[in-house]
Amino acid sequence: MIDLNDSIIKILGIGPKAVKNFEKIGITKIRDLLFYFPRRWDDFSKISPIASARIGDFCCIRGRILAISKTKTWKKRLNITEALIQDESGSIKVIWFGQRYLDRILKKGDEIMLAGKVELSKYGVNITNPIWEKIKDKTLLHLGRIVPVYHQTKGISSRFLRAKIIFLFRLFKKGLLEINDWIPQNTRDEFGLLPLERAIFELHFPKNQKTLKAAQKRIAFDEIFLLQLRSEFFKKQLSDFGAPKIDFKKDLTQRFVRSLPFSLTNAQKKASWTILEDLGGRSPMNRLLSGDVGSGKTIVAAIAALNVIAAGHQVVFMAPTEILAQQHYQTFIKLFDNFDINIALLISSNFEMEIKNSKSPSTRLGMGEILNKPQTRNSKQKKNVLEKIKEGKINLIIGTHALIQKGVEFKKVGLVICDEQHRFGVKQRQALRIKKKIMPHFLSLTATPIPRTLSLAFFGDLDLSIIKELPQGRQKVVTKIVPSSKRPLAYDFIRKQISFGRQAFVICPLIKEDEGMVITGRQKADWEKKSVEAEYKKLSKEIFPDLRVAPLHGKMKSDLKKKIMADFGSNKINILVATSLVEVGIDIPNATVMMIEGAERFGLAQLHQLRGRVGRGDHQSFCLLFSESENPLVLKRLKALVESNDGFSLAQKDLEIRGPGEIFGTKQWGNPDMAFDFLLDSELIEKAQKAAKKIIEQDPGLEIYKEIREKLQDFGSHLALE
Ligand code: ADP
Ligand code: MG
Repeated sequence: MIDLNDSIIKILGIGPKAVKNFEKIGITKIRDLLFYFPRRWDDFSKISPIASARIGDFCCIRGRILAISKTKTWKKRLNITEALIQDESGSIKVIWFGQRYLDRILKKGDEIMLAGKVELSKYGVNITNPIWEKIKDKTLLHLGRIVPVYHQTKGISSRFLRAKIIFLFRLFKKGLLEINDWIPQNTRDEFGLLPLERAIFELHFPKNQKTLKAAQKRIAFDEIFLLQLRSEFFKKQLSDFGAPKIDFKKDLTQRFVRSLPFSLTNAQKKASWTILEDLGGRSPMNRLLSGDVGSGKTIVAAIAALNVIAAGHQVVFMAPTEILAQQHYQTFIKLFDNFDINIALLISSNFEMEIKNSKSPSTRLGMGEILNKPQTRNSKQKKNVLEKIKEGKINLIIGTHALIQKGVEFKKVGLVICDEQHRFGVKQRQALRIKKKIMPHFLSLTATPIPRTLSLAFFGDLDLSIIKELPQGRQKVVTKIVPSSKRPLAYDFIRKQISFGRQAFVICPLIKEDEGMVITGRQKADWEKKSVEAEYKKLSKEIFPDLRVAPLHGKMKSDLKKKIMADFGSNKINILVATSLVEVGIDIPNATVMMIEGAERFGLAQLHQLRGRVGRGDHQSFCLLFSESENPLVLKRLKALVESNDGFSLAQKDLEIRGPGEIFGTKQWGNPDMAFDFLLDSELIEKAQKAAKKIIEQDPGLEIYKEIREKLQDFGSHLALE
């Protein structure tokens, strides 16, 4: 008996050397080999009579060897094996070059299968270097069927893999190998799924295109089913928790909305309303607020925060980068200027807080704290900030991941808001529990416009609110692809905008020119010359010596970054040369030019995000795309950007061009290629959701369906099952 967890060394013909080779492609166990699915399939199932073969055809023939002989070329001493193959319709010559032992393996009279292209050369009409397989009693592996083609590595060819996998297949048939299906029979029956072992073997050696499709569907279902199970399981877990009940404070909210320099869009109102309703409910909110860049998600989050704080709870606001956290900190200080709300900023390099008390309107305590060196001069103030948070004197705590580090304790968190990142693990959330059975509400903000099917697949546990409408008066950002000959004009254009009082971003793909270079002697691609350092030097010294230009990238000291962002925010800097660091969320309404160097280096969604950094104020804004690339796919991407300002349709395009793997990450996927093809298949996704719901209803703790539980544990390590 062989177990799926056994080493592949148990397979006939796999020795220590092959084991080493297999390791390189991540295969150590029998299970790994079974799940090493083909990259594509070649259909060699159709056999044609020799007489019908035409020059230029790729054909598959079956016949007997009439004659076979080996010679050597005179000059290069190259082995040439020539054979004459005959079937009922006629005969054809085949030639192999460089095969030393072929004449010993193939003998006159052997029945053989061949596939290759029919050519006319100095040897006459022939098939050169055909794929071949001798026909004995055993099953054909390489020809005469739909044949699997694998990603190969040194020492492991597709031919080799086929032989090993068919070996496992035979063991299975003899009952010597057991493959348990982790999806229960009744679920399989209900949703018309192939049994796992059938699907596996069909994927390697499909009977026909139809069975292949069914097998692909089964494996895709597995992946999507797991996503759904994770969502359902999480929802179920969450439903065991109560939530802080946040009553809607109508007057306060109205006062806040009136204090804004604009009126809310309908979409903002609707989203706010839904969120306020969630907050008033008994169970924890779990909501994703998706809206294009600039759609004004921050205000919606602020309305939620205001109500939670008014109910006596703290709000934790997590941003993906320090810069963004700093910016949100500034924004919220302004937004809540006339409200009795204390705010703190917690990023690893800096702890800061704004405390209000009834006597003096506002006190800012900036601390410039370095967390890594707790012994520095300000460690006392840092302690002070942490203490105030713990005591509940700070109402809104904004920061990066530093927020959920050890040593940060909250008094009573009522709401967690995550900006531009989708997941906040159950564990992290449980850590913020108010009481054993009371969990804070959760709101995730994202500018990645997510088509419905995908949001169902990936974020099935989150309720979705979409802001589809931009604030009124927003002008479309005029987007242009600029050829290099027009570069000087682009610089003139920037100069002019600055003379009107506006500001510009110049985005480069690299920080330093030689960053990440490994291949020596290779000619550099044009984008590789576009670094923040080089462009900053050029722009500040040669092009705009009279203007204020500043660099910004992730490797700079945090204090410096902060100062530069502040100076840019107050228009003390005209041109900011930066990496895509500014991609998410940065809000400088006075900036009107977004110039992107090496635009081919960025994905469509990313370019759209970058473009979203301008066009946020009242002034007409521009996005200038520079690329030396002639790759049609790149041009397609850039053109899509020129033609559309709508994040949702761009996301859909991006999905088509790059596939969801690039967009949502592939880490947790066992068989991404397989699943991705089906991700746009809403029927399959809905089926998977239905199936998952049923399972969790029947067995909420996954105690009966142990195999499902195990699968799920492997699937997401961040999934807290305890
Ligand atoms: P995002 O959804 O990308 O996070 P923000 O919340 O940063 O967008 O808002 C973008 C800009 O639009 C901010 O300067 C904000 O003050 C402004 N804004 C938000 N809502 C409105 C509105 N209803 N009318 C006009 N401007 C608005
Ligand atoms: Mg934002």
